[in-house]
Amino acid sequence: MDYGLWIGIFVIDTGMIVVSDHYILNLNGTQKVSARLDIDNSYMARALELAQQAAEAGEVPVGAVVVKDGEVIGEGYNQPISGTDPTAHAEIVAMRNAATFLNNYRLTDCDLYVTIEPCTMCVGAMVHARIKRIVFGALEARAGALQSQLQLMDGDYYNHSIDWHGGVLADQCGAVMRDFFREKRK
Ligand SMILES: [Zn+2]
Repeated sequence: MDYGLWIGIFVIDTGMIVVSDHYILNLNGTQKVSARLDIDNSYMARALELAQQAAEAGEVPVGAVVVKDGEVIGEGYNQPISGTDPTAHAEIVAMRNAATFLNNYRLTDCDLYVTIEPCTMCVGAMVHARIKRIVFGALEARAGALQSQLQLMDGDYYNHSIDWHGGVLADQCGAVMRDFFREKRK
């Protein structure tokens, strides 16, 4: 993986160059929201590419990236079967990758993008890692632990709370899953 390619520079519709959300210059409120959406879409697009890699490996297609200061510092896709590891969900793989990169078990000030709403295990691990913000794509109606079945971040029993936001590129993220299972049923 070449992290060096990811320097977090985006050109948004106003034609301005934005170096991560921390360095948005001369934008009014509306433009800031639109820049944030563009940034979220960019990272989710990378997570979608990783989900596709999972599908190609015959794994349920979920992809995730960890971002710090506008740079992707960890990537992962779902690989429990090939990795003979029940915990190898995309989010866990991406967080391990990021923790190795930072040489730190805490992922302070890091955002995690994942194509599908996370499960209980992954939300728990993100709390342990001190992830700052979770952005997910499509809902996971059966076992989603932020919105669909459980609302883990609404409880007050964790010692760390994480901002979260769902629905980014939701159609594309859901379509990758639907295509995978349709193909499997053939
Ligand atoms: Zn999970």
